[in-house]
Amino acid sequence: PHVFSTIPEIPADALFALKGRYTADTRSQKVDLGIGAYRDANGKPWVLPSVREAEKLIHEDPEYNHEYLAISGFAPFIGASAKVILGDESKAIEEQRVVSLQTLSGTGALHIAARFIKKFYTQSQTVYLSQPTWGNHFQVFETVGLKTATYKYWDDATKSLDIKGYLQDIESAEPGSIFVLHSCAHNPTGLDPTREQWVQILEAIKRKGHLPLFDSAYQGFASGDLKNDAWAVQRGVELLNETPILICQSFAKNVGMYGERIGAFHLVLPSAENKKAITSQLQAFTRSEISNPPSYGAKIVTKVLTVPALRAQWEQDLVTMSQRIYKQRVALRDALVALKTPGNWDHIVQQQGMFSFTGLTKAQVQRLETEHAVYLASSGRASVAGLNDHNVSYVAKSIDEAVR
Ligand code: PMP
Repeated sequence: PHVFSTIPEIPADALFALKGRYTADTRSQKVDLGIGAYRDANGKPWVLPSVREAEKLIHEDPEYNHEYLAISGFAPFIGASAKVILGDESKAIEEQRVVSLQTLSGTGALHIAARFIKKFYTQSQTVYLSQPTWGNHFQVFETVGLKTATYKYWDDATKSLDIKGYLQDIESAEPGSIFVLHSCAHNPTGLDPTREQWVQILEAIKRKGHLPLFDSAYQGFASGDLKNDAWAVQRGVELLNETPILICQSFAKNVGMYGERIGAFHLVLPSAENKKAITSQLQAFTRSEISNPPSYGAKIVTKVLTVPALRAQWEQDLVTMSQRIYKQRVALRDALVALKTPGNWDHIVQQQGMFSFTGLTKAQVQRLETEHAVYLASSGRASVAGLNDHNVSYVAKSIDEAVR
């Protein structure tokens, strides 16, 4: 035996294991509704037209190179990304009280946030996550030694937001607790608070002196409109003007940069006081872990965000993606209604973003996989982007068979 021979094996990541089973499945009718990645009308990965154009510009640039970026990342990217989430007219940006750092996509931003909280936040070390939430949230925070807890979110009986339970949990958490908020297109439920509910949530967080952390992984992907999808974040920044606000931003879905790992961490401070020191500490995390962030994708995203013609194309691309997904929601709901499948399926249309929390049980999900080669997460979460005109009626028939 060698020194590592007693290391215990842990279960494979459930979603990546699902993908493995899907790939190995030889049935031709198989459908992948697992991992949240956009697919076009033919079920293929989609390179956004705005991204294709941006890549051309980069290659045409005579200064093109693969030099290291600064520790904080590509400066034009950092500035442009802050503006996208906080808004062109952001007072916080104007008053220079935002510290921003390029990160390894949304997960990297969450990790930097987690390390920052662990090392410097003295009020609490407990991170409240929605019940349910993106599974990786637990690991990202726990892996740096923070504690996690959950707040009520999804009401299984009504397939709607348990706003009462949510507000109660904000109320009963120790003052100064950390609250992770999905800024739009909640993963896994696809269910977001209404604007009135957001104000109730934000005011309760303010009253209790909690520390808000917005996870923004789907801006523009939910409604097709960047401003609309940043509403909760921007309202939060206005309303919670006495506390720092942490924002973890991903460009994986909305620019389709999944594998390029492009994101940002933004810390909005109540004032610019001590900004230089905070920046230096955040940079130290990056330096010790990845030295400096990836350059190529950051340059692409910067072009998309800042070259007016590409920006316009991107905003169109967001509409293309969100509308195609919306149409598939309607198609699936309508097909289930036409089949008289037991149950009410309106929630599929009411939810938004990449996912639908179908309400299918673990056993039904299992049956869909073994009998029909339809793959979705055991929680009943379906990545709606995997649906298209070729497979939606097959999926509806399969669900119909599984629930009867
Ligand atoms: N937060 C949420 C809620 C997500 O759904 C995701 C992607 N599944 C992420 C963060 C991070 O994704 P990435 O690291 O690929 O940007």
